[in-house]
Amino acid sequence: MATPIPNQRHFQDEEKAREYLEALRWSNGVVCPHCGSVGKHYILTGKSHRKGLRKCSDCREQFSVTVGTVFERSKIKLHIWLMAVHLVCAAKNGMSSMELHRLIGVTQKTAWFMLHRIREAMKPESGGLMDSGGGTVEADETYWGNTKRSQAAKGYKGRGYAHKEKIVSLVELGDKVRYFHVQTVTAKTLKPILVSQIALDAHLMTDESSLYTKVGKEFASHNVVTHSAGEYVRGMNHTNTIEGFFSRLKRGLMGTYHHVGSQHLGRYVTEFDFRYNTRKGTDAERATAVIGGIGGKRLMYCHS
Ligand SMILES: [Zn+2]
Repeated sequence: MATPIPNQRHFQDEEKAREYLEALRWSNGVVCPHCGSVGKHYILTGKSHRKGLRKCSDCREQFSVTVGTVFERSKIKLHIWLMAVHLVCAAKNGMSSMELHRLIGVTQKTAWFMLHRIREAMKPESGGLMDSGGGTVEADETYWGNTKRSQAAKGYKGRGYAHKEKIVSLVELGDKVRYFHVQTVTAKTLKPILVSQIALDAHLMTDESSLYTKVGKEFASHNVVTHSAGEYVRGMNHTNTIEGFFSRLKRGLMGTYHHVGSQHLGRYVTEFDFRYNTRKGTDAERATAVIGGIGGKRLMYCHS
């Protein structure tokens, strides 16, 4: 019988966690994070050295497996980090810092920092152009946040979207989603996102908003679904996929994260993006994907 997940050694023991991380990150040889040389190092032993400390024979710098990752310089033990990653990957609708604090026994503030680092590791490297095979990409925008009370406090009047957070989303049909948190939604701000993310031979699908009229001409075709005419589905022309994402995103934000500050919204959105794009994998596969993304992204927080 398989070992129950919480009893797996790399969740229990710091040393095992380090070995586990080394095997994952350095499966093709130990890479020096300072100069990039592969396999040219020796292990520093002796009482004065931390376990796992290495020295590069090329650049003479010291390093361990966490240098250059979101775990670097953390006071949190590595096995607790790995447990946190697994728990977050196993939570289908996300996890609040309060929940993580209760589950792993760190303070809520520390849990909050850990969650932001884990989200950073969920960020895709750069996925290349969407649907360069000539498929369809849906684009849509949504608005989030700012209750009536907070609008009043900030002096906003009336209706409209000016005070809300704005998220633009692109979806390859049946495949991946990418979200972008933008300051303003105009044809001018949307165009650079669309042309930098979508292949020109792709077919663009949007609602009837005039925001997309001009940029739509850049692509192989631009199909429009006219919501105002009650036309939500017209054969293949639909933006239902993207609207499904938006409702899932908002449910997650509402249910798990009650107060999402504007400056952090991008990271929460990255998390939902990651969850969707890895939905077919197991919790452990998702955790491995997060660990694959920990490099080169250390956040400059002077905490935990
Ligand atoms: Zn080096």
